Amino acid sequence: MSAGYFPKREKVGLEDLFRGLVTAGHILHREEVTGEYGGHVSVRSPDNPATYWMSCALSPALVSSADDLVEYNVEDSSPVEKDAKTGFLERFIHGEIYKKFPAINCVVHGHTSEVLPYCVTDVPLKATTHLAGFLGGNIPVWDASAHAPSGSKQHLLVTDAKLGASLAAAFKPATSAGFIYSKVRSALPAQLAGNPPDPSREPDHAVVLMRGHGFTTVATGIEEAVYQSVYLKRAAKTQTAALTIHNAYFGHTVEGKVDVEGGGKIKSAKVKPEGSLKYLTDKEAHDAWEANQPIVGKSWALWCREVEVSPFYRNECPGSED
Ligand SMILES: [Zn+2]
Repeated sequence: MSAGYFPKREKVGLEDLFRGLVTAGHILHREEVTGEYGGHVSVRSPDNPATYWMSCALSPALVSSADDLVEYNVEDSSPVEKDAKTGFLERFIHGEIYKKFPAINCVVHGHTSEVLPYCVTDVPLKATTHLAGFLGGNIPVWDASAHAPSGSKQHLLVTDAKLGASLAAAFKPATSAGFIYSKVRSALPAQLAGNPPDPSREPDHAVVLMRGHGFTTVATGIEEAVYQSVYLKRAAKTQTAALTIHNAYFGHTVEGKVDVEGGGKIKSAKVKPEGSLKYLTDKEAHDAWEANQPIVGKSWALWCREVEVSPFYRNECPGSED
């Protein structure tokens, strides 16, 4: 037993953890963060930080009992039980993040379609609303192709520990500037954290985008990781809509020199957008994420109720009531 994972609870046992993990997968499916096979969620073991749990290779929507869950070693993402059910190829994302960041207890990976445009266009995804302050203004985009050995399959998937470690490193670049996630996390009450916060071993970013693939987000608890996944998607939708109407309304201007002798052509022309989107400043992102912590638990409670009353989802893990 150890503290953390769920804000209202002082201790969490495996039963609670399993129930929460299954519910998290249902919420991520219902909120369309993960599609049929478009992602997975994992949690670090509360009794043993050297292992973590995630479902076998099932759609998160169909995971329903402890029999669907597999325990993996953080060291190499091998299953603890040799006869474990077949797992996700990309479990190395989870294992390598737990290895690098001791305070991280929950990881979500998704292929969410609303986020994908920001994984391929070089348009930076930034915090547009107070509810997405955790994004800050400088989300890294990690490119698997830059790290896959030459001659290997170029499928953009994270299917080994080396690629997983490379992705994990993107959460804490050698130099970080602007909004730094760990500075907010470490300032928050310890009840949200599974381990005592240590900024030097916490990620600088809550989210890393993955070129041509999707995203991964990390947190100290299940509720927070699910919140970040849902609000990452919503922030992407908001930004896309804002960019669309902004460009339609304001248009662009062309700047350059008119070449009179050349027939009036414009030389060295540059196209500039008029106006600008008003993203959150780094301080606004920091303060908004700090102020909105109570919303994380409230959102979780609502989403839990929604999946509990839906006959589509089954959660047969016993767990204890809040
Ligand atoms: Zn993936």
